[in-house]
Amino acid sequence: MPYAETLATPEMIAKYEPVIGLEVHVQLATHTKIFCGCPTGFGAAPNSNVCPVCLGLPGALPVLNRQAVELAIEASLALNCTVNPKSIFARKNYFYPDLPKGYQISQYDQPLAEHGFVEINVNGESRRIGVTRVHMEDDAGKSIHDGFKDSDRYTYVDLNRSGTPLIEIVSEPEIRTSDEAHAYLTEIKQVMQYLNVSTCDMEKGHLRCDANVSVRLKGAPQFGTKAEVKNLNSFKFLKMALDYEIARQVALIESGGRVVQETRLYNPDLDETISMRSKEHAHDYRYFPEPDLVPLRISNEWRERVRAKMPELPASRRRRFIQDHGLREYDADVLTATRPMSEYFEKVVTASGDARAAANWVMGDLSALLKQEGREIDDSPVSAEQLGKLIALITSGKINGKLAKDIFPKMAESGDDPEVIMQREGLESISDEGALGKIIDEVIAANPKQVEQYKSGKQQVIGFLVGQAMKASRGQADPATVNRMLKEKL
Ligand code: ADP
Ligand code: ZN
Ligand code: MG
Repeated sequence: MPYAETLATPEMIAKYEPVIGLEVHVQLATHTKIFCGCPTGFGAAPNSNVCPVCLGLPGALPVLNRQAVELAIEASLALNCTVNPKSIFARKNYFYPDLPKGYQISQYDQPLAEHGFVEINVNGESRRIGVTRVHMEDDAGKSIHDGFKDSDRYTYVDLNRSGTPLIEIVSEPEIRTSDEAHAYLTEIKQVMQYLNVSTCDMEKGHLRCDANVSVRLKGAPQFGTKAEVKNLNSFKFLKMALDYEIARQVALIESGGRVVQETRLYNPDLDETISMRSKEHAHDYRYFPEPDLVPLRISNEWRERVRAKMPELPASRRRRFIQDHGLREYDADVLTATRPMSEYFEKVVTASGDARAAANWVMGDLSALLKQEGREIDDSPVSAEQLGKLIALITSGKINGKLAKDIFPKMAESGDDPEVIMQREGLESISDEGALGKIIDEVIAANPKQVEQYKSGKQQVIGFLVGQAMKASRGQADPATVNRMLKEKL
């Protein structure tokens, strides 16, 4: 039975500085594999999406997928990297049952792109984490372990995934806390999704992360020995595994031990990492240039053509939402969380002319509605144009906020424009001053005591009288107009 190792106390941990570098694998959203024409789709019958190339049969020759390269260029540019005019594919040799070629085609000393950075925001502080490199590679197949009893235990190999295009994004060892690691991975996921470079669906393995961790006494000039933690298939596990690993390493050092360089596996059920194997070194892989592929050359023209197609990225959109639309930082974060969300919001702003109100409606009533119906924003029952119209009706004083909140769910239900619903249900708001005047006269007549109090200087009584008039209008009057007219009449 495995047991948790003794972990360091917070006081011990406080003496140390964690050093973290992440290696992130992103599956590129191509229709076909990186070196052959087999489909990349999920869920096909095992070993049906395969050919001699991705099965690694002798004599089969790889042909590089142009779309994969373009997606990798987009990703590199978005990570502020320099895209190298020439990069080289290399064979990384190792044995694994789901790696039929006996090697992975990756890039080694001449990767696609280098020297980038990711900007993260943690506790209101903005920091840059260096991106060492971005390289392209193919994925291995999948081993499925089945059965528990030794006499009835099988491992099946499914090679459908073999040859799926990946990029690996390697960070500098510049991350210092598990929260920063979380923010870094979040930023990468968001950017890749904005670009449609990847769905980043972690459950399907489209976004995978290995974490390198070491600790050193605060102020120490050199890094400590690192351990690599694998199998971090969710954001929550990344954070938990890092916190565990930091506490484990500090406890080890504090008790006079040494961290050994190794690969560890995170076990979410036990919330601990366990040693898997001693770390391979680059020379163990016997890297050499892939003889079946020519160097990948990317001209400035090609790179710039790819750049020109890229959409605005979340960081720029966030800044613009704050500057142009006057949003608060928190609101800008929420409204740029996904590309469909930010695009929806901007359409509402255009249709309504009121960014503040658009933000409130999208983050409030609309989000609640979507959550309740279990729908995504690009599948919203109320279109951005329709929500914009509703807001414009409020801004122009045709309806008040309360009436709008009644109309909104009816828009969702029927798919109709707000004006259509107002007409159908006789919900015209009472902005006609004649009709309103009559209501106000009645309120004044019915509440002589409050009227007296107001006249003798008790100004706050006006709130009560406005309330009475609103009630009498069944919420269809504009409170500001009621307020003004009441004051005039009194
Ligand atoms: P390796 O040769 O073991 O693969 P690399 O130097 O290529 O190591 O780095 C792999 C990852 O480990 C990178 O993300 C890097 O930032 C990170 N890293 C390197 N040294 C350390 C360290 N001492 N502590 C934590 N992370 C580190
Ligand atoms: Zn194939
Ligand atoms: Mg390395």
